[in-house]
Amino acid sequence: MRSAQLNLRKNDMENNCLACRAPLGQVMDGVFDTRFGIETPYVIAKCKKCNLEQTVPLPNQQGLNALYEKYYNFSGEKNTRYTQLRAKFINSFLYRVWLAIDGDISFHLASGTGSLLDVGCNEGRGLEFYKNHGFSAEGLELNSRAAEVAHSKGFVVHGSTLEGFVTDKQYNVVVLSNVLEHSLNPADMLRAIHGLLTPNGQVWISCPNSQSWLRSVFGRYWINWHVPFHIVHFSPATLKTLLNNSQFDVVEMRQETPALWVSHSIIARLFAKPSQATMQLRSALLVATLIILIRSLLFPFLWLGNLSKRGDCLVVVAGKK
Ligand SMILES: [Zn+2]
Repeated sequence: MRSAQLNLRKNDMENNCLACRAPLGQVMDGVFDTRFGIETPYVIAKCKKCNLEQTVPLPNQQGLNALYEKYYNFSGEKNTRYTQLRAKFINSFLYRVWLAIDGDISFHLASGTGSLLDVGCNEGRGLEFYKNHGFSAEGLELNSRAAEVAHSKGFVVHGSTLEGFVTDKQYNVVVLSNVLEHSLNPADMLRAIHGLLTPNGQVWISCPNSQSWLRSVFGRYWINWHVPFHIVHFSPATLKTLLNNSQFDVVEMRQETPALWVSHSIIARLFAKPSQATMQLRSALLVATLIILIRSLLFPFLWLGNLSKRGDCLVVVAGKK
């Protein structure tokens, strides 16, 4: 914690708001990675002018790439009992019922026509839904092993960053499902998307809500800090400002609280220790039991949280101005 405070003092001078360059003020110190056991503690800081919250110290792109390579790499897990069960569930009617109850944060129930680009499409699970629901779907994926799996399902997958993606094609929809908060420059990301969209095109965004009531309950253990991978922590207001400044109008903004996310916050609160990977987060039995308990016992709280705009996840549709 001491080192995080020192970091902030140092970075207070070096790092300003990602969006407006104004100075930052500390909100919370001693925030640590609850998943992989990364040793550095971080600070959550807030812009004194525009209120955008961000992780400090900011990793640079090179450092971030190395962390993704080490901790985040898609394993290429295929045909294990777990992946077979997951595929069965996702392709079942039960999954649709579950999304209707728990909230559809990845636009898996959305239908429409035209071309769609899924940024960070991973092994193409989303692409299958978008295709089955009427879209001509393509993906962007930097991880070559994940891209290969998506490609083997018949999808066009571009191995490029969004900012470096060059095409003559225009898309009707670009999907950023839990992607924007990972960006060191979300304004650049939205600018790139603006250039890829048709005149009436839309960007569909989901990301954690920094105003979530679960942040207040779990404090440093809130699973959605996810430092240092989550760089920016959006509230409904700061996300709307960023979208407006990037020439988008918000068409719809709603809130969801996935039971999976709540279960992860509970597990982090019970088991996470600095510099240690939290293995319990990977226990399918524990996570599934918690999800069922949360959905059946806490549903009024989850529902009220969403209604009072303090749900765990922001789900936004924005149209090009
Ligand atoms: Zn700012």
